[in-house]
Amino acid sequence: MAGIVVKNELNVYESADARFEVAAQKLSLEEGIYKFLKYPSKEITLYIPVKMDNGTFQVFIGYRVLHSRVRGPGKGGIRFAPDVHLDEIRALAAWMTWKCAVVNIPFGGAKGGVICDPNKMSRTELERLTRRYTAELSEWLGPERDVPAPDVGTGEQAMAWVMDTFSMHVRQATTAVVTGKPIELGGSRGRREATGRGVMICCDRAIHRLGMKRDACRVIVQGFGNVGSMGAMLMQKAGYKIVGVADIHGGLYSEKGFDVPALMDWVHTQRKPLPDFPGGGAKMSQQEVLFQPCEILVPAAVENQLTSQNAQRVQAKILCEGANGPTTPPADDILEGKGVFVVPDILCNAGGVTVSYFEWVQDRQGFFWRESEVNERLQDVMESSFDEVVQYADTHKVTNRIAAYMLAINRVGTALKLRGIYA
Ligand code: NAD
Repeated sequence: MAGIVVKNELNVYESADARFEVAAQKLSLEEGIYKFLKYPSKEITLYIPVKMDNGTFQVFIGYRVLHSRVRGPGKGGIRFAPDVHLDEIRALAAWMTWKCAVVNIPFGGAKGGVICDPNKMSRTELERLTRRYTAELSEWLGPERDVPAPDVGTGEQAMAWVMDTFSMHVRQATTAVVTGKPIELGGSRGRREATGRGVMICCDRAIHRLGMKRDACRVIVQGFGNVGSMGAMLMQKAGYKIVGVADIHGGLYSEKGFDVPALMDWVHTQRKPLPDFPGGGAKMSQQEVLFQPCEILVPAAVENQLTSQNAQRVQAKILCEGANGPTTPPADDILEGKGVFVVPDILCNAGGVTVSYFEWVQDRQGFFWRESEVNERLQDVMESSFDEVVQYADTHKVTNRIAAYMLAINRVGTALKLRGIYA
């Protein structure tokens, strides 16, 4: 099913939109519904003044895009990175709508971001930036309106600041306004590992389908942050062999496999560059690692890693997309031609938002679940969603990615028709 045409392959909004177009056409969506779902519901640009530690003021540009609230409140992370762009946030917001619909949880889609380099800012500067960003958005956010979460460059601490700032504005402790919080503040057990665990569950399903065994699977993981390192750690524990790893500083490959907990200690506790890890492996660039021999490739860093320029070099049999948008539409065609089994991002990395949903439920109930309960429910959601997508792909003779979009768009479209358009 070749041939999604995009003008600028590396514009993620164009990529997301092109896939939406294909799925919408296959579903024969009515014109009105199609238009409603194609465009975001609201977009805001913020100019955020922050007092820096040296006493000067700096103004940061930030965004929040609400794509859809048709099936529930907006849901989506906040990204702090130097290359944040409105088109990227738009694409990520739409992906959240489709992702929540693929795993059938009652949320819409949203995303936020601030152009900044968190690695070059102090903790106090980051706190002031996060608080002012939240304060500016205080009328937009809320447990029934729009619920942020962490993304690249933000984590539990930033979510605690979001919760506190919002609570100060509404004058009541409101834990359910944000997910990915520390456990002590209404966070969920299992949230930290959730996206990586979801990736592993998808890998398990994929190898089962292809008749492969965990201990015969070499895995390469690009990105060693929340998703990549947790995914690698859980997969190694489960019996997979992690032969390739990479982060922003570079990559390592070793046929012998890596000791992932030792690597996590090196990178996260000792804060040393990943490529200097003393546990062996050949040094290479963070891109080159993607093309080394393996059975499973897990891009879990940033967008546009597999493109028309390099997808031919992928050696994996299975691509499990931990990151959002790591593969461009032309790369999809190449991978399809090579027979690579693709678990698309809006399914593969949905474990995070699924446990975010569990966190929101627990916060609203004021009743918290055991970690085993969280993991069991996550397993149920991921397995049934995987099976639904793959079955849909078989029935409709489309790729797994287009199947996931079709399933999601159909769910949101049906909800929209039932609600009708308020006039
Ligand atoms: P993170 O900030 O914790 O980690 C990002 C990792 O990617 C770091 O190891 C960083 O060094 C590495 N990296 C950055 N640029 C790179 C590059 N050019 N090449 C190689 N490595 C690079 O972020 P995260 O939360 O793990 O998110 C990673 C991806 O997963 C993003 O696409 C994000 O949108 C997606 N995602 C995250 C979650 C979640 O729960 N955290 C959920 C769903 C999807």
